Amino acid sequence: MTNKTSKKKPSGKSAKTAGTTESHDFQAEVSKLLHLMVHSVYSETEVFLRELISNAADACDKLRYAAITEPALLGEATDLKITVTADAETKELLVADNGIGMSHDELIENLGTIARSGTEAFVKQLTEKDTDVQQIGQFGVGFYSAFMVAGEVEVLSRRAGADEAWRWVSSGTGQFTLEPLDPADPAMPARGTLIRLRLRDDMDEYLEPGRIETIVRTYSDHIGFPIELHVVGGEDDVEPRQLNSASALWSRPKSEIKDEQYKEFYGHIGGAFDEPALTLHYKAEGRHEYTVLVFIPTKKPFNLFDPERKAKLKLYVRRVFISDDAEMLPGYLRFVRGVIDSEDMPLNISREMLQNNPMVAAIRSAVTKRILSELEKIAEKDNEAYEAFWNEFGAVLKEGLYEDMERRDQLLALARFRTTTSGDDLRGLKAYTADMKENQTAIYYVTGEDRAKAMASPQLEGFRAKGIEVLLLSDPVDSFWITSALGYDGKPFKSVTQGAADLAEIDAGDTDDAEPEADASEFGSLIAMIKQTLGEDVSDVRKSDRLTDSAACLVADAGGLDRNLEKLLAQHNPEGIPSKAPILEINPRHEMVKTLAHAAKAGGASGDLEDAARLLLDQAYILEGEPVRDPAAFAARMSRFMTRGMSADS
Ligand code: ADP
Repeated sequence: MTNKTSKKKPSGKSAKTAGTTESHDFQAEVSKLLHLMVHSVYSETEVFLRELISNAADACDKLRYAAITEPALLGEATDLKITVTADAETKELLVADNGIGMSHDELIENLGTIARSGTEAFVKQLTEKDTDVQQIGQFGVGFYSAFMVAGEVEVLSRRAGADEAWRWVSSGTGQFTLEPLDPADPAMPARGTLIRLRLRDDMDEYLEPGRIETIVRTYSDHIGFPIELHVVGGEDDVEPRQLNSASALWSRPKSEIKDEQYKEFYGHIGGAFDEPALTLHYKAEGRHEYTVLVFIPTKKPFNLFDPERKAKLKLYVRRVFISDDAEMLPGYLRFVRGVIDSEDMPLNISREMLQNNPMVAAIRSAVTKRILSELEKIAEKDNEAYEAFWNEFGAVLKEGLYEDMERRDQLLALARFRTTTSGDDLRGLKAYTADMKENQTAIYYVTGEDRAKAMASPQLEGFRAKGIEVLLLSDPVDSFWITSALGYDGKPFKSVTQGAADLAEIDAGDTDDAEPEADASEFGSLIAMIKQTLGEDVSDVRKSDRLTDSAACLVADAGGLDRNLEKLLAQHNPEGIPSKAPILEINPRHEMVKTLAHAAKAGGASGDLEDAARLLLDQAYILEGEPVRDPAAFAARMSRFMTRGMSADS
């Protein structure tokens, strides 16, 4: 809301106005954005017209929807349209619509504050100039782009069905004023909104009919309402003319739509101006009849990870806009933009009724299926394109692995992973399982905060030595699906930090020139000694198959959670999960372990061996990137060892 509202004396026009002029401060965030617009250095100032026309079209859509239940709102004036007027004499450009209009409060709310999150980030990016002002519509602040071209913006608005109308005026410097319009004022709109831009001196180009026409054709041709151009005040009288084809793009035959038109429509619907990576336009016939026109962006929309995580497809019923909140797709496809237009849903369906509507559910399911099958086709035909898609949206699609049980296998087949052997390439599970080693029965994975941390896990050593590929899971979403995934193609997923590694079964090929292991009976004594020393700090101590270089590592029990996941969950819920003591695995081929085993068997100085057992556990924690459990005791042990080591050397 506005920070301050002060009543001022009636302005100079008080003779005409019935009430008082209010002065309001813009919300701080709006002020910042406006400052950037007013001092605009952006080359694409033309986007303002697209944004104003888009708002006008939305206002017409809203009125048409409201009139379904309240036809009086539409009244006689059923022809909804948008009028652009260029007045060369006054140097004004007017954008008017006879749509829903705004009330006093709506003007304050909509044109003074920003409801949506993300604007702050946008303003910051704009300030640092690595963001296109083109994207402004995506952030729900398109209106303010008018201040790139106008020194003053006036908005006259009359809400459909209301008697009164309001004049909103601002020059973009911190404040706007609001006053009621005198019903006798010739400017009083019959219904809807008129936006008057007092163009800056260097913005005359936006008064040229040719220029306006080009912009409208480029950005707004698909708008389903007529956009008319009126030219006044010039030397020649120009007849008003319609600039666009005014039929909903998706209802036209595919063969008549050019790529640029699809792209322009995608820009309008998604507020994004990258090339769509996928354009899918089809008509479904059968039990339900509907048209689908959807796009997959090339780049992530800024709000992809909003907590809301809702799909934002627009739902139309026979060309009448109904809602963009109907969740026409599951959350894991929320990056898809576009429209679905149903031929057979009732027009008067309320937004609340949409929630449990079986027809909505059937359409959602069919469109989801179709989009996934399109992705499968890309994955098959064009690996590069698919990898580009996956890099942007893979983390979102993976949410489906635990949200959509019905399509889990299909989604698993679409999933791509970085692995310990793939470098920067992505691997699918089909390729992974085809390349599994002889006797390898599981699909191995390692989790970690990021790829580098996952790669550094000591538990990977044995897998690396045997050339076994391990999936690197470092997206936060991985911890959700992997714990419930049943496997792929009959092969279970198995964490390298969990359970026994069964690596002994898998042949390393001719690379097997590993160090000999410690003497079995000596090693047995060492294990027994460590178990006794560490007591309840570990749930078991055993020989490791998964280590080659490190002396020891920690693993979780076969039935427990993967070690990294356990840590992650504990971070989120420190009291929730009683963490089980880990299993300490010891590498029988490690030089130090062999020495210790020998000493354990020979019954060496017990204090030294106890220190060594503790240090092995400390080391295992450090290798996991975790703090040692008792830093003071650790330092004391280290000092004792170092002192002994140095005095032995001298
Ligand atoms: P967005 O349109 O993305 O929400 P804008 O900054 O362009 O963001 O507009 C803010 C709001 O102002 C709109 O959501 C709408 O409620 C209102 N608005 C803007 N222009 C009009 C108009 N011509 N008629 C009715 N309402 C409008």
